[in-house]
Amino acid sequence: MHTGSCLCGQINYTIASDSGPIIYCHCKRCRKSSGSAFVTSMQIERADFKVTSGQDFIKIFHHDGGVDRAFCSNCGSQLFSTRAATPDLMRIRLGTFDSEVDSKVSSHIFVDSKAEWHDILDNAPQHAQRP
Ligand SMILES: [Zn+2]
Ligand SMILES: [Zn+2]
Repeated sequence: MHTGSCLCGQINYTIASDSGPIIYCHCKRCRKSSGSAFVTSMQIERADFKVTSGQDFIKIFHHDGGVDRAFCSNCGSQLFSTRAATPDLMRIRLGTFDSEVDSKVSSHIFVDSKAEWHDILDNAPQHAQRP
């Protein structure tokens, strides 16, 4: 079980599982949306995710290609993304977790579009695009 929240604290959520793969996504959209080198997410089953407060603050940005990105309309924290192609999965932004996470990165994806100013220095598997 995990708990998490956005920066302003209006949105709180729980995840009814202990772990899932931790993915670093280096695609350009993730870099833009985070303002950083990559987005770090834990992939979980949608059925395990529950918003416990602040549902009304959640705003969804719809990408072309069926990707939805959810963020707090008050503080701007990214919370999760979903893909129409995999409706049963969610990718929760790991930086919003309040509970401790004891696993490490599982893989890097979209390494082909990684920022040229960032070097990957761990030994996790790297995928040129989505594996
Ligand atoms: Zn917020
Ligand atoms: Zn991405």
